Amino acid sequence: MLQGKNLINGQWVGSEDTAASVDLASLSFAQANLNQVEEACQAARAAFRSYSQKSRAERAAFLNKIADEIDVLGDQITDIGTRETGLPEARLIGERGRTTGQLRMFAGVIGSKDYLDIRIDQALPDRQPMPRPDIRLTHRALGPVVVFGASNFPLAFSAAGGDTASALAAGCPVIVKGHSAHAGTAELVGQAIANAIQACNMPRGTFQLLQGSGRKIGGALVQHPEITAVGFTGSTAGGRVLYDMCHSRPKPIPFYGELGSVNPVFCLPQAMAQRAISIGKDWAASLSMGAGQFCTNPGVMLAIKGDSFTALQNAAVTLLNAGPEQKMLTDSIHASYHDGISELAANAEEITDGQRSRKPRHGRSAAFRVNASTWLETPALHEEVFGAAGIFVECDSEAQMLQVAQELQGQLTITLQMDQNDTTLAKELLPIVEEKAGRILCNGFPTGVEVSSAMMHGGPYPASTDSRSTSVGTLAIARWLRPLAFQNFPASLLDADL
Ligand code: NAP
Repeated sequence: MLQGKNLINGQWVGSEDTAASVDLASLSFAQANLNQVEEACQAARAAFRSYSQKSRAERAAFLNKIADEIDVLGDQITDIGTRETGLPEARLIGERGRTTGQLRMFAGVIGSKDYLDIRIDQALPDRQPMPRPDIRLTHRALGPVVVFGASNFPLAFSAAGGDTASALAAGCPVIVKGHSAHAGTAELVGQAIANAIQACNMPRGTFQLLQGSGRKIGGALVQHPEITAVGFTGSTAGGRVLYDMCHSRPKPIPFYGELGSVNPVFCLPQAMAQRAISIGKDWAASLSMGAGQFCTNPGVMLAIKGDSFTALQNAAVTLLNAGPEQKMLTDSIHASYHDGISELAANAEEITDGQRSRKPRHGRSAAFRVNASTWLETPALHEEVFGAAGIFVECDSEAQMLQVAQELQGQLTITLQMDQNDTTLAKELLPIVEEKAGRILCNGFPTGVEVSSAMMHGGPYPASTDSRSTSVGTLAIARWLRPLAFQNFPASLLDADL
């Protein structure tokens, strides 16, 4: 049952300030205050030494227990989650499976010591002109971390999402700043984690959940001296403010922000000649899935202008015009989407029917067309519109296509639709797009991010604030670890892994 409270140091506590839920009638959520931020950060610090020194097996059992507890709450989570986010039941069920899968995956990761990347330089006492000492390098948990729940993934990037799972696996206590778009879902998942803390006898401050406005508590959390790193998914503007706060602290800390991306798709000439209609249809399906509220939404399609590209656009537009109005995550995301498509309409030709939904918080897909010269000189067309809005960029030549690639901002993904006979052009594009993206796809579409060991979900700024890291997949654990070397230590003082 929901209480509308914050989880601080093992207790569910209210506050003087509450916010009524938009979606859950008659329920209000306590908004954490600055004293509670202080209390949570101190509790996380108090938990750190004990939690980080639990054995890998104990932490793995804890992660598995969280997953089991989430499974127990299954239908309740789906019920609250669909009401809060407007996302369909099947999506919530699928996302729950992904969330518990991530927790169990990280339990598996720390089952082996491989993630510690241990390196041992044995002593060379007889080396000339100087002996070499024995040096053993391992990785240790950073300390307490703050995670900002994402609006568009109420489970997989929220209270027990990938950031939390990877940080807990690393040995870091986590304070989640819940997203107001799904406070109830976060609280239910928080209850599952609190149950697992008790069952596994973990320190009370291992996981805490604070609800409240980012401007009120977000800055205080990321600037608190006990916080050692931050995970974030959201807007470029909000992420940049928090990034700057982390880096201007007296003691700067890493900020892992996953921000905006338009995920360009280059359709190369032979693929276009062979498969224009199917590429257009598949692009429309990927663009409009989940009302387009995915960070990997393919918002830009580039190709050389001509009959085939027009046929591709027509195939896509037919599907988009026939598509349903879809409920969006929040009123403000809905409002930003409409501002975004107005901006696109001011700078490009709309080729969908121009109808907008009249239902509250609902959006319809929209597609636009522009020539590459206009795109190149109009920065507003390079920005992400969060929602099912896409733009076709018509290039005069292969040379202009390469020029557009050169001007792209950092991206989470770039896709090449290509056939074998496109290889020469692909070889020219590849060195350019390698500098621009974290993941490059050959055919297919970027939505539906695999959670696996080789996945990279990040990219050069503004796709993310640290292009060396990923927020999806097993490598995500590296964000919460730091290297530590022991020199000439006796075996009796080294841990078993070393
Ligand atoms: P957001 O506005 O950036 O908010 C994300 C989180 O950061 C919220 O908890 C928010 O707190 C907090 N926050 C934002 N600005 C802050 C500031 N100046 N100081 C302190 N905390 C701050 O993102 P959103 O609500 O998820 O959606 C808005 C836009 O983000 C979308 O339209 C889209 O452009 C983008 N977005 C991108 C992705 C992606 O995967 N790249 C995912 C989701 C959204 P409060 O809102 O509680 O105040």
